[in-house]
Amino acid sequence: MKLTIGYIFMSILIFASSGFAAEKKMKIHILATGGTIAGAQMKAGEYGYKSGTFKVEDLIAAVPNMGDLATLSGEQVANIGSQDMSDEVWLKLAKRVNEVLKSDADGVVITHGTDTMEETAFFLNLVVKSDKPVVLVGSMRPATAISADGPGNLYNAVAVAASPGAKKRGVLVVMNDEIHQARAVEKMNTTNVETFHSPERGPEGYINTGKIAWFETSSKKHTSGSEFAGASPKSLPRVDIIYAHSNMSPDLIESAVKSGAKGIVVAGVGDGNMNQASLTILERLQKKNGLLVIRSTRLPTGLVLRNNEVDDDKAGFVASGEFNPAKSRVLAQLALTKTSDPKKVQEMFEKY
Ligand code: GLU
Repeated sequence: MKLTIGYIFMSILIFASSGFAAEKKMKIHILATGGTIAGAQMKAGEYGYKSGTFKVEDLIAAVPNMGDLATLSGEQVANIGSQDMSDEVWLKLAKRVNEVLKSDADGVVITHGTDTMEETAFFLNLVVKSDKPVVLVGSMRPATAISADGPGNLYNAVAVAASPGAKKRGVLVVMNDEIHQARAVEKMNTTNVETFHSPERGPEGYINTGKIAWFETSSKKHTSGSEFAGASPKSLPRVDIIYAHSNMSPDLIESAVKSGAKGIVVAGVGDGNMNQASLTILERLQKKNGLLVIRSTRLPTGLVLRNNEVDDDKAGFVASGEFNPAKSRVLAQLALTKTSDPKKVQEMFEKY
């Protein structure tokens, strides 16, 4: 009898000292959408490759010890290069993320191509209705390459999604040992593994083989604090981006509107500028058709300021502030599901 009680007591001590008594194993669900992380080269050593070749089960199986971080499950939502990302896939993905986070899952990891990762991340940052972690991850080298970066990135993404510190930070992007906020991050190099940066704000944290150092987060609204949280429209309005340059052709603007655009984002020169002919047409379309006009910039850094060289108040335009043209387009699409009033949309650009 004494021996049995002693044995039980010892077992409790060993169990408690191993840390398992205090730490719950998190449940992380991986939603796969394709991209280079699931890509394979046609032949070993070849430079070209095809995105979205491997399935979610292959991606999970390729990462040693990832199952120690969390209890994992996976699901294929799409298997595309992210240049083919569309409103349809976004809406399907957002619906699945919201469903999964309503269940007993503690967090979601989304594998994604890097080309449009910042857009999907920002879209989810505005429509996910949960404070649980949502982490996007990809790779710059295909799964079959020498020194593929996908497995390390995926390991880190699962570690972030399983971390209590990731809660309430909005949607995050994990790449190349860095953690970034969806609203701030941009892809800035065509092929280098160090391609993601948050040029205005810096990273949200660092991660090395699952060990995380968090930095301060921004006070901007996101996820459950967003007015779009849980929104599941059947489709999104069309918003086009027009690139400004010397001798810019204003007829492209009219053509976009004739083709159904309800909003235009101008990737402006400098502080969101464009030639006078383009300004005149945009102002006319804003007044006549209620076109939503966003002035963003083609430059990699800096804010687009209101009423600087362009009289936004008079023209009825929105200045994009921190948002690059791609991010501005995402917010404009969601804004248009509620209003095309430039004053109200300007407030959204400041709030999120
Ligand atoms: N075009 C591919 C994609 O975005 C390659 C970029 C990548 O995933 O790294 O899916």
